[in-house]
Amino acid sequence: MQEVFHRDTCRLCGSRSLELVLPILPSAIGDAFVPSSRLDEKQGTYSLETYLCLDCGHLQNIDTVNPDILFREYTYRTSVSLGLVEHFRKYAANVVENVQAPKGSLVVEIGSNDGSLLKAFKSHGMRVVGIDPARAIAETATAEGIPTIPEFFSTAIAERVVAEHGRATVFCANNVFAHIDDMADIVAGIRKVLADDGVFVFEVSYIFDMIDNMVFDTIYHEHVSHHALLPLEKFFNRFDMTLFDVEKQRSKGGSIRGFAQTLSTGKRTKSETLLALYEGEEKRQYRSPKVYRDFFDAIEARKVETLRIVDEVIAAGGVVAGYGASTTTTTLLYHFELEKRIKFIVDDNPIKQGMYSPGAHIPVLPSDVLKNMKPALVVILAWIYFEPIIKRNQSYLDQGGKFLVPLPEVNVVSKP
Ligand SMILES: [Zn+2]
Repeated sequence: MQEVFHRDTCRLCGSRSLELVLPILPSAIGDAFVPSSRLDEKQGTYSLETYLCLDCGHLQNIDTVNPDILFREYTYRTSVSLGLVEHFRKYAANVVENVQAPKGSLVVEIGSNDGSLLKAFKSHGMRVVGIDPARAIAETATAEGIPTIPEFFSTAIAERVVAEHGRATVFCANNVFAHIDDMADIVAGIRKVLADDGVFVFEVSYIFDMIDNMVFDTIYHEHVSHHALLPLEKFFNRFDMTLFDVEKQRSKGGSIRGFAQTLSTGKRTKSETLLALYEGEEKRQYRSPKVYRDFFDAIEARKVETLRIVDEVIAAGGVVAGYGASTTTTTLLYHFELEKRIKFIVDDNPIKQGMYSPGAHIPVLPSDVLKNMKPALVVILAWIYFEPIIKRNQSYLDQGGKFLVPLPEVNVVSKP
C-alpha cells in the first residue's frame, strides 16, 4: 500500500511555485493512540512540512497520508459531545436566517457524520441529505431519519444527488474542507448541486488567527489546507462560485464560517466583514513567505526556551510529564522533540487513559496520579486549556509541583 501521496502543484491553483515556509518536524498520526495489546506495532512518522504557493498564497501540506492509514482508527461520532449538539443547533438557525431558506428547501452536507447538523436543519422544516464515507455511521444516520449516501463526495455523486433530490438551497461542508486533497472535484460537484440562488457554507480554521494565536499544532495529517480568503476566492471563481460573507468563530483557536454563492447567478452583495478581511490579508502580505517564516521563528523561540527548562529538570534528575492527549498534542510533542523527554502523559478523558501515545508509545494516565508520582515538571501540551487544567490540579502545585505552559509564551507556574 502506498503510504503517502506527494503532490508538486498547489492544491488550489495548480502552480508549481511552492516554497517550504513551515518545516514542522515529522509526527506520528496525531490521534492514533493504541492500547497495550498493540505496543509491538511500529507506528511510523509522516511529514508535516508546510508550503506556501507563491502564486495564489495558499498554505498547504503537499504530502498527504493515505486515508486508509489516516482513518483506520477513526471512531469519532459527532453527537458524542454535548457541546457540539448545541453548536449545530445554533449553526442551523444562523444559516436558515442568513440564507432566508423557505421551508422544504434541500440542505446537503458532506462529511455529515451521524447527521447531527442535518437533524437541526430538519427541525427547521428543511429536506436533508447527508454524504459520508464512513459506512456504519452513514447507515445509523439513515436509520435515524437522515438519508445518508455512504460514499466520498465527487462530481458523480453530485449528479446522483440532483437526480434523486433536486438542487440544494444550502450545501454545507465543515472541517472536511481542510481535509481534502482533490478540492477541485469537490467544488465542481458542489457547484452542480447548488441551486441558482443557493448558498455553500463551510467552516475552516483561518490562517491569520492560527498565526496570531500561535496554534501551529492544528497542523496535523488530517488538515492539509490552511486557508486564507483571497486564495479561496480565486479558486472558487474557477468553478463559477464566489464568497459573499464570512463570520469569525471562536472554536479551535480561531476559525471562520464562509458563505459562497454562484458567480453567474448569485445576487447577494459582499459583506463589510468579508471586504475588511480581504483588506487585512492584503495588508499582511498573505503571499509573502516572510509572514510564515516569522511565524515559524516565533514557534522555534518557544521551543528553544521550553527545551532549556525541560533539560535542566532532567539533568537535575527530575521526571517530566505531559498534560493532554489529543491530535494537536502529538504535533507539539514531536515538533518540540518532547517525545523522548516526557515519561508519561496525563489526560482527564477516560477513553485516553490506559492508552499509549501515537508512535512514541508514552503511557497516558489519569491526572490524579500527579499527586502520588510527583513529577518535577508537567508540560501542558493542551496549552489552550491551561487555565482550567491548573485550577483542577492545585493540589499538585501545593506539593511543590510545576507546570510549564509552552505557548503562546513560555510560562512556568508554581505555588508562590
Ligand atoms: Zn496556488
